[in-house]
Amino acid sequence: MEKTDAALGAKVHEHLINVGLETPMNYEQVQVKDDKKIKVIAKHFTAIMEELGLDLTDDSLIDTPNRVAKMYVREIFTGLNYDNFPKCTRIENKMGQNNSFVLERNVNVQSNCEHHFVVIDGKATVAYIPKKTILGLSKLNRVVQFFSKRPQVQERLTEQIAETISYITESPDVAVYIEGVHYCVKSRGIQDVTSSTMTLATRGAFAETNSELRREFLNSARMR
Ligand SMILES: [Zn+2]
Repeated sequence: MEKTDAALGAKVHEHLINVGLETPMNYEQVQVKDDKKIKVIAKHFTAIMEELGLDLTDDSLIDTPNRVAKMYVREIFTGLNYDNFPKCTRIENKMGQNNSFVLERNVNVQSNCEHHFVVIDGKATVAYIPKKTILGLSKLNRVVQFFSKRPQVQERLTEQIAETISYITESPDVAVYIEGVHYCVKSRGIQDVTSSTMTLATRGAFAETNSELRREFLNSARMR
């Protein structure tokens, strides 16, 4: 089990509401016990499958509603609940403050689009300029993972990660770039199998257009 910090999560939740970047949600409902949610979702998913005409007495299908409900609540949508927010150990920056940034590249993004509930498969690049505190590197990945694990739109996901990294590190200088393949575009609708969506969220020095820093970040993010 990875370590969590519900108190920090509560602060991040409040901060995102204040800056207008929180996912539209009813947080009282989010906090309902997992077992109860699984029961209710399984019941509704049974109805969906029956309505489609599937035979739920078949061995292969009988456990699907419960499996889907568990997957939603305990795996792919755990990022709705800030009790699951990752512990973000911060250490004092003893290297002095300059303009050098920390960058984490090719961070795995596995999310689901909130319009169709199908997969968004992508990669993120995250950078910030440390001020008073430095964040453990894996924590950048954990923050990306946390916000990926909820129904999302890629633009908001990118902003939520940038805002949260800035909030936690107390650094005004943050950049997040995500390139994602949306399966709602690939497997249905227009059925475009080759397109991907790029989103960028910048703060502080990274937001200055035509700056060397911004250029450096984008070069690093796009080099694969
Ligand atoms: Zn979609």
